[in-house]
Amino acid sequence: MKGFATRAVYGDSKGKDPYGALRMPVYDGVAFAHEDSASLAQTFAGRKPAYVYTRLANPTVQDFEQRLQSLSGGLAVLALSSGMAAISNTIMTLAEAGTNIVTTKKLFGNTLSLLTKTFEPWGLSVRYVSMLDLCALDRAIDEGTRAVFLESMSNPQLEVADCAKIAAITAKHGVPLVVDNTLLTPYLFDSKKAGVNIEVLSTTKYISGGATSVGGAIIDNGNFDWRCSPKLAGGAERFGSMAFMATLRQEVFRNFGACLAPHNAYLQSLGLETLSLRVDRSCDNALVLARFLAEHPQVAAVNYPGLPEAGSHAVARQQFGARFGGLLTFDLADEEDCHAFMDSLRIIRRATNLNDNKSLILHPWSTIYAEYRPEERLAAGVRPTMLRLSVGIEDGDDLSEDLERGFNHHA
Ligand code: PLP
Repeated sequence: MKGFATRAVYGDSKGKDPYGALRMPVYDGVAFAHEDSASLAQTFAGRKPAYVYTRLANPTVQDFEQRLQSLSGGLAVLALSSGMAAISNTIMTLAEAGTNIVTTKKLFGNTLSLLTKTFEPWGLSVRYVSMLDLCALDRAIDEGTRAVFLESMSNPQLEVADCAKIAAITAKHGVPLVVDNTLLTPYLFDSKKAGVNIEVLSTTKYISGGATSVGGAIIDNGNFDWRCSPKLAGGAERFGSMAFMATLRQEVFRNFGACLAPHNAYLQSLGLETLSLRVDRSCDNALVLARFLAEHPQVAAVNYPGLPEAGSHAVARQQFGARFGGLLTFDLADEEDCHAFMDSLRIIRRATNLNDNKSLILHPWSTIYAEYRPEERLAAGVRPTMLRLSVGIEDGDDLSEDLERGFNHHA
């Protein structure tokens, strides 16, 4: 198999453009005409692979899906309008009212909100455990469990659980393991190798090529026997290993309509081509800045899994190799200090996104977690003294100089 960067540039060329365009053009139309009504009927019945309507499938979107599939080594990929669409569509396909999913409070704020404020009132029970406590995880799974969900590196706590050990537990229970791999992407973390069954991604982040567009993806790694899933067992009889993807595409995804716009798919395919270059650069910068912050007298604590002294370092090194993502957090003396620090930066932007080409800083306590009570924020690992820094691909020296400016604001 060709290397990651080569596959990222060429894709798998399954969907060749009729004019030989080297880059799949943007098919920005809605409907696709058929020669006769029989062709339409056959396509609707699933007997003929053809396009009918862009909400269901589109050549530019499919080109992006095939590229992501070739990079991840998954069985099948579905692109969606956002990372939240990827997470919600996955859970709706696997679970239903009266069942439960097992997860952790160390999650991206909107994901936590999706579970507690959207799904729980619909009758899905959500069980929270620490993904670092494998015995607690094992005990929490029962016959009503439809999935275990976690982030390969959690945002913003940067917790790294041992996915291979978790996969051994979920496999023993016959429950699919779903991992949000947004902070690492398939380039840094091969979720299939770790035994993860479904990978979800916010492609808005690293994959979009620098915050060009919002998008998401669901990857079925092809390593779960869907006959074990009470909800998908019927689909498994009909579609075999494609039961999850077929049910997702033909029911939840089609009916909720969170499709990726063709233009965004084009931008995200473009992003994939340079993914490895940008990720390498942002990770290298992040390690330099983490060291700089760790040695700074005004910093109370730094969290970056790439630092050998970080609690997560050993597991992160074993799972991800030599690079640890572009996100880090650090704590200052108090909340006021955090705001003053942010306000004195000139290069690093104050914005709520991550894995952009630009470095971005955020105070999670007063922004993405503001909707939670203080004790809930603390339980999610978010402190008023904590800043989250997403490190971009600029010159590292310029970034450390900017951080120094932040420290000098009250000197
Ligand atoms: N998952 C993680 C880990 C995230 O950080 C985010 C957004 O920041 C999402 C999911 C949601 O992605 P989107 O904004 O594309 O819906």
